[in-house]
Amino acid sequence: MPVDYHIHTRMCGHAVGEMEEYVEQAIAKGLREIGFADHAPMYFFPVEKRDLSIAMREEELADYVAGVREVQKKYRPFPIKLGIEADYTAGMEDKLAAILNKYDFDYVLGSVHFLNGWGFDNSRYIDEYAKWEMNELYEVYFSTLSQAAESGLFDILAHPDLIKKFGFKPDMDLVPLYEKTVKKIAKSGTCIEINTAGLRVPAGEIYPSLKFLEICRSYGVPVSLGSDAHKPEQVGYNFGDAVDMLKAAGYSEVVTFTTKNKKFFGI
Ligand SMILES: [Zn+2]
Ligand SMILES: [Zn+2]
Repeated sequence: MPVDYHIHTRMCGHAVGEMEEYVEQAIAKGLREIGFADHAPMYFFPVEKRDLSIAMREEELADYVAGVREVQKKYRPFPIKLGIEADYTAGMEDKLAAILNKYDFDYVLGSVHFLNGWGFDNSRYIDEYAKWEMNELYEVYFSTLSQAAESGLFDILAHPDLIKKFGFKPDMDLVPLYEKTVKKIAKSGTCIEINTAGLRVPAGEIYPSLKFLEICRSYGVPVSLGSDAHKPEQVGYNFGDAVDMLKAAGYSEVVTFTTKNKKFFGI
């Protein structure tokens, strides 16, 4: 088994277990490398609007980094990378860059979980979908994802078709939209992630779809692999399926990062 680059910690307020438990699961499952990528502070909302069940406080970021450094030492030579998952918000790039520049992250996962302040992947706000025309919602989501890539703030775009999470689907053909998006991602030099968390939600399929992945392959976009574990037992979740899908799309390796430098791992 290769690597798991999308692992949360209880610091984000909605994951459980100690960092050590995640590492031990990874070793027991035969993973060759892991990376913690917990939710960065919600810099895009004023402090009083930040939801502590979604992400750590800004002042906790140092503790998160110190926690990862500690497990790195404890489990050496098993490779544990320092990553982070940060939201993209148009117009607030400088604010995010200031947070990310404080630490020497091996990689930054870029996510779109919010569209104009609406947390569309949160079941608490699912009613909001009724206000949208699905084709338009998908257009808005993928154009935001493209902007995230073009911002240059991220090494990897996490769960690149998260908008399908609750199973709301547009009736248009998505291929042209995927093409337009992937072209911009490829040009930006950003990688994408294959993420098995989609199998645990109503969508019932890996992020991204096989079609999206095939288009990424055709444009030479590297892929990282992640479980989005929020519990220790979810480390490496259904990676057999992810590897099969990567191979079906024509990939033979996944990307890893050491202080932002890429290295490829055969699958
Ligand atoms: Zn989470
Ligand atoms: Zn996420």
